[in-house]
Parts: sequence; structure tokens; C-alpha cells
Amino acid sequence: YQTTNKIAAGEVITNPASVIKELLENSIDAKSNRIIIEIKKGGKEKILIKDNGVGISADDVLLAFKRHATSKIHSIEDLEYATTLGFRGEALASIASISKIDIKTREKNAKSGIHVKIHGGKVILHEEIGCTKGTSLTVEDIFYNTPARYKYLKKDSIESGYISSIVEKIALSHPEISFRFINEGRQVFHTPGNNDLYSCIYCLYGKKFADDLIEIQYENHPLKIFGYIGKPQLCRSNKKYQIFFVNHRYVKNRILSQALQEAYKGLIMIHKYPVCILNIQVPSSMLDVNVHPAKTEILFRHESLIYLLIKEAIREILKEKKL
Ligand code: ADP
Ligand code: MG
Repeated sequence: YQTTNKIAAGEVITNPASVIKELLENSIDAKSNRIIIEIKKGGKEKILIKDNGVGISADDVLLAFKRHATSKIHSIEDLEYATTLGFRGEALASIASISKIDIKTREKNAKSGIHVKIHGGKVILHEEIGCTKGTSLTVEDIFYNTPARYKYLKKDSIESGYISSIVEKIALSHPEISFRFINEGRQVFHTPGNNDLYSCIYCLYGKKFADDLIEIQYENHPLKIFGYIGKPQLCRSNKKYQIFFVNHRYVKNRILSQALQEAYKGLIMIHKYPVCILNIQVPSSMLDVNVHPAKTEILFRHESLIYLLIKEAIREILKEKKL
């Protein structure tokens, strides 16, 4: 049974950043509006995620660490209409099987909280505890019992780079939540959680970056776009700041960056890439559902329509701004 979990862990849990992604998605699903992320040694030594969400009931804590235990699906219909981010019920079981977990959680109206420690999938502590509402989860020594996997982790600075990148994107896709990210005891950023994308971008990338953005708001059935594009002078020599969210999920997609590039044709130099932080809303029938939910790559159906609409939307606003 533990072996199954360890194998399953290999599919979604590849590095500390993937652990953080799963845990943050859980905190978001739990309706938190304040989340703290702390890491040590690129997340290899320690990851702490503390949220103020709904918490887990005393009866359900151990269950949450069992494979295919999810509180988010009650019927086959739920599966089809799943709006929550996680619905596979595998993350916690997988993470617990390859690390040392310490969780403190309390539901809003519960008189006390629960404290559980699980090492390599084995429960070593289970007690009542006084704690604040929400969930605080520590993951230590990732892959300590799977040395072959540990060996593939990169050096701390690279692993923390992966983590920053993921936490940034999650923060940008949820400006209504305040994210505080701490690396080796030093605060990297603290987003306001005021539901304003612009102030979230400002907080992550600074004033100079934010000053050179143009707001875009566009609707042309079946597509909706909201976000910011960079003035041509903000363009970069890589695509790191081409950030797309499709239906609230961070994605990488060739069609989207090609449409962006094409819209800036003539405005920027060759080998330069425009900047954007764009939320794109499309009916789910336009997305290919066969792509693994944990992957950021997505495929559109009717690609060329998407390409045209995005390109036109961006061209229109650039023209309007006389660029
Ligand atoms: P999934 O998210 O796919 O349901 P997970 O293994 O990630 O599976 O989580 C298992 C269950 O544990 C969730 O369905 C949820 O009920 C509970 N859970 C996990 N993290 C939290 C959290 N931060 N706050 C409240 N409940 C949580
Ligand atoms: Mg989950």
C-alpha cells in the first residue's frame, strides 16, 4: 500500500515546487484568504504552508492522507463539473509517503484542533491541540526515503527559483488572496489580497514594471480577456514574463504566445518578446480534456479562432493607445 503511494508520488510530486503547488491548491480550495509559504534549502529541508481556510475535521484528518480520499467529489456528476483545483485525492497521500509531515488543523467551530505527524506514510503522532482556525502543514526532508529521487533534485537556488515561479503564478491567478512568501527567513513578497490584479503585479515585479503596463479588457464571444500587456519598451529577451491563465489556471501554450508576438509585430525588435499577464476565459468545450490535469501545457480546440481573437484584441488596444 505504501509502495503504491510512493509510485503515485512519482507522477505529481517531482520536486519541492510540485509539493507547494499541490498544497497551495488545497489551501485555495479550502477558501483561505491568507496564505503563508515558507521554505528552507530550496524546499528540500522544509516547506511550511499556513492557511486560514476551513480546516479539516478531527474525523477526517487521517482520511485526508489516504489515497483517493477527497472531500471534493461526491458523485460522478461532481467529477464532470469539478470546479475545485484538486479532485484526484492523491496529493497528500503521495507527499506523506516520501517526506515527514506535520499538520495542525482546526475547523472554525471545533473546540480544539488536531495535530498529526506522518513520517514516510506512517502516523507517528495524533493528538488534540489548541490552534488557530485553518491548516498549517510542514513538509520536511522530501524524498528522504527514496534516495534515487532525491538525487535528481537540483541545488537549492534552482529549486527555490522553481518555487518562486510557481508561487508567483498562483498569487497572480488569485489576487483576492494574500500570499506571503518567505525564503530562508527573508520575506520575498507579500501580496495585498485586495482582489486587484494590478497591485498584485506591482507587488511581485515592482513599480518600474507596473508603470509600463496597459490594461486590457476584451470580450468577443466565446472569448473573454482581462489583464495587462507591456508597452513595447517593456519587452524582454525571453518569454519569462508571458504569463497566461486560461480559466484561472496557469498554462503554457504555443498558440497564445504566437498570437501575442504577432500583435506586436513591427513594434519590437527581432528576438525580443512582449510581456503580458493575461486571464483568458473560454468555454471548457474549447479545451482539450485529454491533457493531464497536473500539466501546465494545454491544447485548444479551434486553435486558429483563439489565435485570431487574441491577436486582434491585443492589436486593438495597442492601436487605441497609439503604439
Ligand atoms: P484533493 O485535493 O484532490 O481532494 P488531496 O490529497 O490534495 O486531495 O487532499 C485530500 C483532502 O484533504 C482534501 O479533499 C481536503 O478535504 C483535505 N485538505 C487538504 N488540504 C487542506 C487544507 N489546507 N484545508 C482544508 N482541507 C484540506
Ligand atoms: Mg489537492
